[in-house]
Amino acid sequence: MPEHEADVGVVGAGFAGIVAARELQKQGLSVVVLEARDRVGGRVLNEPIGDGKVVEVGGQWVGPGQDRLYALAREVGVDTYPTHSAGENLIEFRGALKRYTGTIPRISPAVLADVAQAQLKLDRLARKVHLESPWETPGAEKLDSQTFATWMGRNVYTPGGRMLIELGIEAVWAAEPADVSLLHVLFYIKSAGNYDLLLDTEGGAQQDRFVGGSQLVAERAAEPLGDALVLGAPVRRIVHRGDRVSVIADGTTAWCRRVVVAIPPPLAGRIAYDPPLSGHRDQLTQRMPMGSVVKCMAIYDEPFWRADGLSGQATSDVGPAKIVFDNSPPDGSPGVLLGFLEGRRAREFTRVSQDERREAVVGTFARLFGPRAAKPERYIDKAWAEEEWTRGCYGCYLPTGGWTTYGDALRAPIGSIHWAGTETSPVWMGYIDGAIRSGQRAAVEVGQALRANSSADSRSKSPVSLPSP
Ligand SMILES: Cc1cc2nc3c(=O)[nH]c(=O)nc-3n(C[C@H](O)[C@H](O)[C@H](O)COP(=O)(O)OP(=O)(O)OC[C@H]3O[C@@H](n4cnc5c(N)ncnc54)[C@H](O)[C@@H]3O)c2cc1C
Repeated sequence: MPEHEADVGVVGAGFAGIVAARELQKQGLSVVVLEARDRVGGRVLNEPIGDGKVVEVGGQWVGPGQDRLYALAREVGVDTYPTHSAGENLIEFRGALKRYTGTIPRISPAVLADVAQAQLKLDRLARKVHLESPWETPGAEKLDSQTFATWMGRNVYTPGGRMLIELGIEAVWAAEPADVSLLHVLFYIKSAGNYDLLLDTEGGAQQDRFVGGSQLVAERAAEPLGDALVLGAPVRRIVHRGDRVSVIADGTTAWCRRVVVAIPPPLAGRIAYDPPLSGHRDQLTQRMPMGSVVKCMAIYDEPFWRADGLSGQATSDVGPAKIVFDNSPPDGSPGVLLGFLEGRRAREFTRVSQDERREAVVGTFARLFGPRAAKPERYIDKAWAEEEWTRGCYGCYLPTGGWTTYGDALRAPIGSIHWAGTETSPVWMGYIDGAIRSGQRAAVEVGQALRANSSADSRSKSPVSLPSP
């Protein structure tokens, strides 16, 4: 069995793990990155669609405030381009199909006012959240003891307003309002900046895309790792005794002084630790479910909706694809419609065949954009809950009581084990930018810990003695 020896082992080669490893190397430390899949990028994945073009079946957008991701893309030479948004948007609401411009459809002035007042309240409440320690927010217990559905029941007054706010929750958290703690929603809003930033295309988190696809950024960022990156190595067990750690994967073991676990918390909870981690940490990972999303795309010879004056962006109260975007490559060829199945719809449609999903999603596109949309040249989708090394997306959410009871266990290192991954980032949690920030933070944390220990010459010369299997 091949073995690796390094100062630091990193579990996972998503953006968090790649960045942590790069930063550790810059500090002069040796690293080994163990990645379960046969590729890098994790929740970010390009799908070729011919002529050297790609669409992304995982994370793809970048927007204002996500400066770490813009910086990394610049550093590795990947350009961005604006998400296509010229033209009118569509909303399907109560059996009628209407065109509108801007973020909020003009269903009626009452609905508009209702959504605006709810957003204002949310932004105002979110301002009080302590980003680094949400459990220390004034009134945290009260905020964390109610679901977002409870809050909505008391603070959103019109059916149209409830539909739009619910759509927003599904779109951002990939969960239902009843799944998520109000404190978590407020934390996320503060983590991004404000509610609009989460939802908007121009000026928001969906503003820009990457030429060559978002996975290209991860692939290029991973290049300097060279042989330090081991693919096809799912980590099953971490034995940790002070400054001696063995990270045991299928087919290989890494001997290290520290380990950075850069995978989603529920997956981190599936690794066996020896000695076992505290009940407090384990119960945290039991309370951080991944959201539910199927990302679906239909490919056409051209983006025909543009000629009709449509942007390709649409919302629908019927669905099942309730949020739709024009996801065509930068030159607009071929035309690509992207629809998200989120929350309850994703859970439902993950359990049926891809053919059934295709029929349902293409059916939504045809209702919105006319009969031409019914005949795509190709249909692509990815049900992320089915992915063994992800198990859902976009990220984890916290249900009631999660932050106030277990939040302090999210980033706190345990002996020589450190935690990274977008879920550990106070800023842009759940996004690629948050993943990068978490990798940078973990690398600083590990560097400081190793320097603090260096006087005691704690470098392990001999492997950890492993208990018999
Ligand atoms: C459909 C979809 C759409 C999204 N849209 C956007 C978007 O537009 N913009 C945005 O910013 N974000 C978006 N996201 C979220 C974004 O992709 C993630 O927040 C980000 O990629 C997370 O990076 P990470 O490194 O923290 O985790 P991951 O990408 O999950 O990386 C973890 C890595 O660890 C590996 N791994 C897991 N378990 C083990 C193990 N036991 N041993 C070894 N390796 C293991 C995995 O294979 C993976 O490579 C989206 C995600 C999805 C799925």
